[in-house]
Amino acid sequence: MSPARLIDGKQIAADVRSEIKRDAAVLIARGVRPSLVVVLVGDDPASHVYVRNKDKAAVEAGFAVRTVQLSATTTQRDLERVVGELNEDRSVHGILVQMPLPQGLDARAIIDAIDPDKDVDGLTPTNVAALALGRAGHRPCTPAGCLVLLDRHDIALEGRDVVVLGRSMLVGKPFLLLALERNATVTIAHSKTRDLAAVVARADIVVAAVGRAGLVRGAWIKPGAAVLDVGINRLENGRIQGDVDFESARERAGWITPVPGGVGPMTIAMLLSNTLASAARAAGG
Ligand code: NAD
Repeated sequence: MSPARLIDGKQIAADVRSEIKRDAAVLIARGVRPSLVVVLVGDDPASHVYVRNKDKAAVEAGFAVRTVQLSATTTQRDLERVVGELNEDRSVHGILVQMPLPQGLDARAIIDAIDPDKDVDGLTPTNVAALALGRAGHRPCTPAGCLVLLDRHDIALEGRDVVVLGRSMLVGKPFLLLALERNATVTIAHSKTRDLAAVVARADIVVAAVGRAGLVRGAWIKPGAAVLDVGINRLENGRIQGDVDFESARERAGWITPVPGGVGPMTIAMLLSNTLASAARAAGG
């Protein structure tokens, strides 16, 4: 078998971002500039890098973007007050609270405080329920980005066996619902799953979102399957590796995302997409 074709997330994300920029320009001409506010608490270095990347992408798309930087000693009440003010501010279309929050802060309560219309991460109870009910709402960025990667390569989900590794609210569970909505037959594997290899071997599409470098072996992959690797694992040598053993998996897969340059860039593109949708709604269409 010839090696898998690469799913170039970097290129697809760039395409999506330029489409967003074009659509944003139309809104801006009507007097509404999409506006994103990122709330960053404390000084976690990785969070600072993520926020810088989001900031840069938003500026490039023509959005207004602002970071509210708060000290690591911010109280729950103060953070909820900041979120409340952003909820009320009509010039703000998207609010993102960068995770993880410093210890002592209740992340779930903060997410719950975000106005669902401005919840561009798609994590509030209202948006989670909207996804489960098949209603309109902001979809979580990383799983929505996975779907776009499949769509842009015409990799159909309908009737296919999809195996998702990981059951987080951020990736695994929402991807399960998105894939179900597309009429896939979906299995979720998790830390208590027995015989992961046998479960993965059934999949036409594998989505790995665990956080364990090289967990998925090439020998497990059904020949020709599409493999989306969400994992971001920093190795001791500083390199980033996904959850899939890329070299062995690419020998059997039909399609595969690299790490980095696969799913990662799509997350930011979908964040912009949700913010644009929110701005369009605020502009009345
Ligand atoms: P999480 O820690 O919340 O969830 C991990 C999941 O993996 C859990 O549901 C757990 O049951 C499951 N799991 C643990 N061990 C397992 C095993 N041996 N077999 C099968 N499942 C197992 O993680 P998360 O927030 O969903 O993130 C997962 C990975 O994706 C991390 O590496 C994270 O950095 C990465 N991530 C990447 C992006 C991106 O933009 N590319 C976005 C979010 C998360």
